[in-house]
Amino acid sequence: MVVVMTPEATDEDVARVVEKVESAGGEAFVSRGVVRTIIGLVGDVDSFHHLNLRSMAGVADVHRISDPYKLVSRQHHAGRSTVWVAGPGHSVPVGPETFTFIAGPCAVESTAQTLEAAEMARAAGATMLRGGAFKPRTSPYAFQGLGIEGLEILSAVREATGLPIVTEVVDARDVAVVAEHADMLQVGTRNMANFGLLQAVGKAGKPVLLKRGMTATVEEWLMAAEYVAQRGNLDIVLCERGIRTFEQATRNTLDISAVPVVQATSHLPVIVDPSHAAGRRDLVVPLSRAAIAVGADGVIVDVHPDPEAALCDGPQALFGADLRALAQAVRRLPPVVGRVDAATRIKAIAPSLTV
Ligand code: PEP
Ligand code: MN
Repeated sequence: MVVVMTPEATDEDVARVVEKVESAGGEAFVSRGVVRTIIGLVGDVDSFHHLNLRSMAGVADVHRISDPYKLVSRQHHAGRSTVWVAGPGHSVPVGPETFTFIAGPCAVESTAQTLEAAEMARAAGATMLRGGAFKPRTSPYAFQGLGIEGLEILSAVREATGLPIVTEVVDARDVAVVAEHADMLQVGTRNMANFGLLQAVGKAGKPVLLKRGMTATVEEWLMAAEYVAQRGNLDIVLCERGIRTFEQATRNTLDISAVPVVQATSHLPVIVDPSHAAGRRDLVVPLSRAAIAVGADGVIVDVHPDPEAALCDGPQALFGADLRALAQAVRRLPPVVGRVDAATRIKAIAPSLTV
């Protein structure tokens, strides 16, 4: 941490800062420039926070040098992590060497629709199934999801297809029941800063898919991940899903640069959701190609057997021809950037033996 003094700061002001830091068990190194003095602090940064140095006379600014997020930062964990999502028959990696393709309907509407969407996803090469049972809708009049019944449908489709399931949890009170059915818990854009929910999913014992809040900075997003990590769960996959900008041509603006930015500062895997970013099916394939090229660890996309009849997000669900183009992109492009399809790295899970 560095304390920058104002040009008018007196020797006494400097001495008082040094004294305060030393009284908290830290060391302070004073460096006097022609115009300003700066003081470098060494010690426990968190304890310095409580000193309120910024409010002291003669202090212009206080800067952190280390990341405010510890557990998810690369500062103490140089390599990039792989998160394994364990399904009914196998475990799927999401990480730096592979490319993971996740697909499924925006919302679970019926067993037939979910099963058909899962078959479309699997035929296109997806190794995990998405689908919302609890839907966080902007309008309270819109379809809110089937809730527990939707979870039961997901469980049945999981068994039938063998695909691990990722599904959203919107309320801390539902974490236990969602964790009973899901292999990965999704926290959506609208709940990224719901700290109680983040703590609850951090304790649930399942990997977490943490979407970026549509108005969140990268630092706020990583701080949200830190809430999950702090509860003992480092199996977190981040998902860039577009941010709100002045642009109206797309629902949100996919911040493609966030992918390498996050990968440089955090060890967690990062995937991209082009469907919810764009809100338009014609952009899903080009944005998926961009995600692969920029180094994303996977994509998650909406597919529906009958997009025109979808109860949620039909305009972004892929028709068959688009899905074929996407399948081709996720098969051909990852090797160009040095990745293999996660499908080739799946680990079989030995059936547990009951003694
Ligand atoms: C979703 O994935 O179904 C969803 C609602 O996404 P987001 O939170 O990114 O809007
Ligand atoms: Mn949706």
